[in-house]
Amino acid sequence: PVDRSPDIQEARLKLPILAEEQVIMEAIKENPVVVLCGETGSGKTTQVPQFLYEAGYGSENDVIGITEPRRVAAIAMSQRVALEMNLPQSVISYQIRYEGNVSNETKTKFMTDGVLLKEIQKDFLLTRYRVVIIDEAHERSVYTDILIGLLSRIVPLRAKKGSPLKLIIMSATLRIEDFTENKRLFPVPPPVIKVDARQFPVTVHFNKRTPLEDYAGECYRKVCKIHRMLPAGGILIFLTGQAEVHSLCRRLRKTFPFCGRNYHNATEDEDSQEAVRRFKKSRPKKTMNLPKIDLASYSAQPLDEGDEDREAADDEEDGSGSDLDIDLGDEGAEEDEKADSSLPLFVLPLYSLLAPEKQAKVFRPPPPGTRLCVVATNVAETSLTIPGIKYVVDCGKVKKRYYDKVTGVSSFRVDWTSQASANQRAGRAGRTEPGHCYRLYSSAVFADFEQFSPPEITRRPVEDLVLQMKDLNIEKVVNFPFPTPPSADALIAAEELLISLGALQEPPKTGRLNDLQKAKLSSPITPLGKTMASFPVAPRYAKMLALGRQHECLPYVITIVAAMTVRELFEEVDRPAVSDEEKELLKGKKARVLQMQRIWAGQGSAQKLGDLMVMLGAVGACEYSGLEPKFCERNGLRFKAMLEIRRLRGQLTTTVNSLCPDTHLYLDSKMNPPTESQVTYLRQIVMSGLGDHIARRIRQEELLDEKWRNAYKTPLLEEPVFIHPNSALFRQLPDFVVYQEIMETTKMYMKGVSAIEAEWIP
Ligand code: ADP
Ligand code: MG
Repeated sequence: PVDRSPDIQEARLKLPILAEEQVIMEAIKENPVVVLCGETGSGKTTQVPQFLYEAGYGSENDVIGITEPRRVAAIAMSQRVALEMNLPQSVISYQIRYEGNVSNETKTKFMTDGVLLKEIQKDFLLTRYRVVIIDEAHERSVYTDILIGLLSRIVPLRAKKGSPLKLIIMSATLRIEDFTENKRLFPVPPPVIKVDARQFPVTVHFNKRTPLEDYAGECYRKVCKIHRMLPAGGILIFLTGQAEVHSLCRRLRKTFPFCGRNYHNATEDEDSQEAVRRFKKSRPKKTMNLPKIDLASYSAQPLDEGDEDREAADDEEDGSGSDLDIDLGDEGAEEDEKADSSLPLFVLPLYSLLAPEKQAKVFRPPPPGTRLCVVATNVAETSLTIPGIKYVVDCGKVKKRYYDKVTGVSSFRVDWTSQASANQRAGRAGRTEPGHCYRLYSSAVFADFEQFSPPEITRRPVEDLVLQMKDLNIEKVVNFPFPTPPSADALIAAEELLISLGALQEPPKTGRLNDLQKAKLSSPITPLGKTMASFPVAPRYAKMLALGRQHECLPYVITIVAAMTVRELFEEVDRPAVSDEEKELLKGKKARVLQMQRIWAGQGSAQKLGDLMVMLGAVGACEYSGLEPKFCERNGLRFKAMLEIRRLRGQLTTTVNSLCPDTHLYLDSKMNPPTESQVTYLRQIVMSGLGDHIARRIRQEELLDEKWRNAYKTPLLEEPVFIHPNSALFRQLPDFVVYQEIMETTKMYMKGVSAIEAEWIP
């Protein structure tokens, strides 16, 4: 019996899904697999686990498992369900990659999809679970897709064993045919239960013009108008990334200051402003004993800023725009940015990497007399429902990582989103009463959006998935029941890479895949591949770990691999400043950050390890400081990244120790720098994992075209690739290098570069 508080009970009764409890539970009882779809906010995530619990599914040693594609949702939803059920988090728990509060008493476990995939590797039949819910299946995250494929096989196996497992796939009302009409996945189509959400009408207002560049500025102006002119109701804004979110938060807080803010906890921004202030105060002292460096040679190009070729397609609608009373129009008098404290706006950021306690603020009512305004990335699109939103402002864009299928070159691009996701965004405005959605683009532009975003698995390299599948003894990967299969090219590229790393057996004779083998892709896994598969990192890095035992290099290899996996150790100091004051701060900070990176790059031959030496030095220094947020702030390191590196190092260390019982590694916080010979071994180890990522410098005498000046040639690409000005090796430009990856921004830049010797290349 669950003892819920009266207000919770009242709120639940308003959810449309409650009326369907019987139907849903009947279907689950009668069928091994059920698809449940309903609008975001109808109560799927918070209520279905409760239905199951109350029906006795989480009893004895059974656990109700529920997967989320995002960490944010796994944490927030477990907390919400625990609260609704009046049960402790030791019973309604969560587990994400490195943290969780699962206990012996856990009955309902929210986790990220990656966590469940790892569990399948340990226990293929998932014997601890009686029900598994795959939530947000419409997001089509790679792991969700793989899990559905695996579970479609696990469910019949469990039935055969006489301990049936129930599978529930929950999704927004989007393209569920990929699951239900895929005969390879489910020969008997699972029943689909639709939950009607009581969605209030949302009036959609298109801009007549589409702003070419400055959609963030357009967002700002629109929010100002809404806040000044329209009745009470929360505002939810969709932007594309963390930096944009913060910048808009700052602008809005400046314009509509909320004076009682201290009473309602400091926000992220204030924390960092405070830190910047502290940094400014302490700067002269700290920089005094650092070597002087010529900064002029460092260009200001940010490494991972999305490139500029945003789609500028614009269509002007004929101006008959029936100006609805509430239609605010797109052009406007320049909003004056003078602070107006008579209209307090309670501005909160929301994005995946934000700390959970800060994310949780969006669920609380804003302070009396203020209007809630949440500036979000697309995490707010489906996984989290924010109460009280009446206005949605949608920039129409989404930031995604794009990969070249053949070369693996990646770039972050800000592009138009899909119609399906724009409609999801709009829907957020109609949860509690009729609402309005302001789209900062024209209806003609919307008509050109693709209908759905393609599933992630079709958009990225899949070598990690292929290795995991081979480790699960799924030898013929082409036969795997993917909801949507990756392209044949991507599968072949993955199989070939894994063969070259020694993780899969070489085909006899030629050592290369012939056409028949390409069609089958059935190379079995090797013992090395098995070892590699036990590391939770990309196969290239797993290879480095598998080789790292020589010459006591392992602690360094673990650190380098952790740093390369976590990515983006360094804070973005090239970001545009919102004020002159901030500009000054950023300039000072950049100088210091570059100086520190020079120090971390080491002396003499250690420098040849290049950017990876900088990573080692940064992690070492940060650990030496006791993993202090202040230390990170001062030296331009992302505290969250450093924390995650610490955790991943811990996890990798444990894995190594369990694989080889004779090693007893421990996490050394006072890691000494590697010796000269260790640096050489490290460079070789790194090359063993990045063997297909070699680049050769184009020499002066080979130069036929100016565009190849200071450039490198790689076997994979026709075009020149470059060492980035912020790289530790930018001054040296060694003849041969290996790189972690190539990112395309203003040019093709190699990231994570180390020098290698010509004679090492086979
Ligand atoms: P779905 O999974 O169908 O999108 P949810 O179960 O996530 O729906 O949400 C159902 C309702 O519960 C939403 O209307 C939302 O307002 C409310 N809700 C969810 N999480 C919280 C929370 N942390 N605080 C307050 N209300 C919440
Ligand atoms: Mg949900």
